Amino acid sequence: MRTSQYLLSTMKETPADAEIISHQLMLRAGMVRRLASGLYTWLPSGLRVLRKVEQIVREEMNKAGAIEVLMPVVQHAELWQESGRWEKMDAELLRFKDRHQRDFVLGPTHEEVITDLVRKEISSYKQLPINLYQIQTKFRDERRPRFGVMRAREFLMKDAYSFHLSQDSLQQTYDAMYQAYCNIFTRLGLDFRPVLADTGAIGGSMSHEFHVLAASGEDAIVFSDASDYAANIEKAEALPPQGQRPAAVQAKTEVATPDAKSIEEVSAFLKVEASSIAKTLLVQLNPDLSFDELTALLSYAGAETIENTWRSKVVALILRGDHDLNEIKAEKHPLVASPLQFASEEDVIAVTGAKPGSVGPVGLTIPVLVDHAAAHLADFVTGANKDGFHFTGVNFDRDITTYQLADLRNVVEGDPSPCGKGNLVIRRGIEVGHIFQLGDRYSSAMKAGVLNEEGKHQIMTMGCYGVGVSRIVAAAIEQNHDDYGIKWPAAIAPFQVAIVPMNMHKSVRIQEAAEQLYKDLTAAGFEVLFDDRKERPGVMFADMELIGVPYQIIVGERNLDEQKVELKNRLNGDKQLLSLADVVTQLK
Ligand code: ATP
Ligand code: MG
Ligand code: MG
Ligand code: MG
Repeated sequence: MRTSQYLLSTMKETPADAEIISHQLMLRAGMVRRLASGLYTWLPSGLRVLRKVEQIVREEMNKAGAIEVLMPVVQHAELWQESGRWEKMDAELLRFKDRHQRDFVLGPTHEEVITDLVRKEISSYKQLPINLYQIQTKFRDERRPRFGVMRAREFLMKDAYSFHLSQDSLQQTYDAMYQAYCNIFTRLGLDFRPVLADTGAIGGSMSHEFHVLAASGEDAIVFSDASDYAANIEKAEALPPQGQRPAAVQAKTEVATPDAKSIEEVSAFLKVEASSIAKTLLVQLNPDLSFDELTALLSYAGAETIENTWRSKVVALILRGDHDLNEIKAEKHPLVASPLQFASEEDVIAVTGAKPGSVGPVGLTIPVLVDHAAAHLADFVTGANKDGFHFTGVNFDRDITTYQLADLRNVVEGDPSPCGKGNLVIRRGIEVGHIFQLGDRYSSAMKAGVLNEEGKHQIMTMGCYGVGVSRIVAAAIEQNHDDYGIKWPAAIAPFQVAIVPMNMHKSVRIQEAAEQLYKDLTAAGFEVLFDDRKERPGVMFADMELIGVPYQIIVGERNLDEQKVELKNRLNGDKQLLSLADVVTQLK
């Protein structure tokens, strides 16, 4: 591919609205562009990576005996009513009507459609087990789409569904999927961990999530430092380590949270999932703050600081007094930056343990990385003052009380592992895969059965297996980057080699050598990005580092005197001189 005939679309500046590094680099490297909240266009380089991830997933699924299908994105409501999820699902399920006023949804997942297909197509035990999968666009109207394609509303998922007549058979396919997922993430070159996950409301007997380890991960995962035990935090909390905590750990937790409240209370109060509470800090402000100070504080918080500097958002805002709560609830008040959640003063009192009347005109909850919470808050007030919002009167120690909710967790680092070996370590992870034994949740509701060996009708038992194909692209960048840009794992790099000729348009010799290399490498089967733009070498180098092509071949006058070019390895920065004639064999 010649850059002159390609859509490179790199940018030098870091876009202000991109909070995490993968989002920033995907924009800067010209991989995606935002159309609207949670909706992204994949540009050529991004699409090349996405297709590679997709292909690895497809190959491993096929190898594990799964069969590919493709189902519609649009699904009719009857199926969801039949399974009972039409009522159960909240606004994440996007519903709409067609011209005949019939109800439809944009598929967030496909249990209903696949169960409908299988009950029609499969009638005998002889056709089981079967594992069908697709790689397809999903739509979820996420409450807080963020971090680019990491939590998008429209995204690419591989979803597989298996059907069985016995638990043994389900377990076999589940194990095969577990192994396939390990193969996938290993081939992708990612540092990942399978963890036990809660089967939650859906029931079922077994579930694992696959997490890519990254500080920006939205989930907390827990594992033992001396055994294979690993679980997501929700599952770990369901286990009984609470009472078994070493005294030192217990004491530390109590000091950190003088007004400790349960995670359930807090999550109900904030109306956010318990898993995101680890990042939440509850801030209670002095009741004596004036309305103007409050207004300044909130508009400042909503506008700049929280979004961009703290990588966070205001999730709860509790007002009284001068503020018209209804106006705020309707998101019409100028203070309000969507999305916000509201709670009553009683809720604040219940959660913070504050005395009635002392809650103050506002309680502002700000999700921030807990370790830095206090420092950030001080920065926030100082920063606001600096930017012309004056909080004279506002005294950090006196006026602002913070509650570090993360410490309310039932499981804390250092707890003994429930398996009896080692102590627990807590890390952040990005959920990139999820496998689940569903049992007969959908097949019973939708009467999906076959004739068994005895000739009797028997309801099937099911498993489902998801991979976040587009999320993986972002997760891979979270783990593989440096100050200059992306360092793609070889398996998913958009190109394998870049040719960077220096001042080609001024030198016939360089042009000829570069063209010949391009021809030879392409003929040898390499995916080559040939930077034939009339750009300064500095610009070209910066772009190639940013895009993260694993190898760069630099063609320059001096080395050409000896019929040589420089080969640079993006991953480790190694440079070596190669004879022109040896380039292809060296790269093979
Ligand atoms: P999360 O906890 O991140 O919301 P989930 O548990 O709701 O994910 P699943 O229903 O398990 O997601 O879907 C399977 C996979 O799809 C997830 O493991 C994840 O990798 C991916 N995925 C889910 N939601 C999104 C999203 N909004 N954007 C991108 N990928 C997603
Ligand atoms: Mg979700
Ligand atoms: Mg999840
Ligand atoms: Mg999941």
